[in-house]
Amino acid sequence: MKYTFFKGKIVPFSEAKIGIMTHAFNYGTGVFEGIRGYWNAEKNQLFILKLKEHYERLARSTNLGLKSEMKYSVDELCAATVELAKKNGYKEDIYIRPIYYKSQEKIGLGLIGIEDDFCMFISPFGAYLDITKGIRVCVSNWWRISAQSVPQGAKITGTYINSSLAKAEALEKGFDEAILLSHEKTVAEGSGENLFMVKDGKLITPPLSETILPGITRVCVMELAANELGLKTIERQIKQNELYGADELFFCGTGAQISPIASVDDKLIKDGKVGLITKKLQTIYFKAARGDDPKYADWITPVY
Ligand code: PMP
Repeated sequence: MKYTFFKGKIVPFSEAKIGIMTHAFNYGTGVFEGIRGYWNAEKNQLFILKLKEHYERLARSTNLGLKSEMKYSVDELCAATVELAKKNGYKEDIYIRPIYYKSQEKIGLGLIGIEDDFCMFISPFGAYLDITKGIRVCVSNWWRISAQSVPQGAKITGTYINSSLAKAEALEKGFDEAILLSHEKTVAEGSGENLFMVKDGKLITPPLSETILPGITRVCVMELAANELGLKTIERQIKQNELYGADELFFCGTGAQISPIASVDDKLIKDGKVGLITKKLQTIYFKAARGDDPKYADWITPVY
């Protein structure tokens, strides 16, 4: 990671430092995104997946979560991201982390009138969760933070204490990942990804009203399932008990990609192997993301 975007310009990574009084550092008053870029060796090209959609969500998060307007347009941030990736010269899979945050060094809550700024770094990145053989998941004792506590749909740094506690609980208990229930005690999502279930040939996912993050990958999966498998996704509440009897379960997210789930609370999902629908969705997802499917050319932005 040679260069980063900080205080309005591209600077060497070592120069991008914030002070300890920074509002966002003290109070979690930042909003952020995770964006992937996929290297296609044959095409000698790096493709950024759903770039615009991520910045549209960042703009929404800024409005809802920070009560502020971004000082850059979505188009400007897309262009800055391509420029930064290019300047770093990556020829491998990458992860892009843009953050809009309360940058003022000031004590006191309130959001209003507190200066904000944008920064971004990029890092080489492989798989976040295992995508080959299915992971071991537990249902967390922590509930997904509700829309009565934070704005629905905003990806706010402070909110990620909820996800981090659930993930830590999973790791402490020897699992790979956690599923959080909503305040209604129905299934919400993983600590950093959305959840899909296959049951009797139907593809089911919790609705946004479960206060899940409106995942960009979630929409990709729905689109691929409809176009490629003729499967219309059913958005409905899922009871915890339904998880154990599912035919297939998988997580999806920018980091997680499409990550099959082998067991929940040590109960195997079917035979614990990667299910057929999950496998098909994985294959077409990676083809689209890596720029090998012209049908989904509008999902990706070339860097070079
Ligand atoms: N839920 C949570 C809590 C997340 O952090 C993420 C990752 N951003 C997702 C779902 C998946 O969202 P996306 O597909 O937009 O990456």
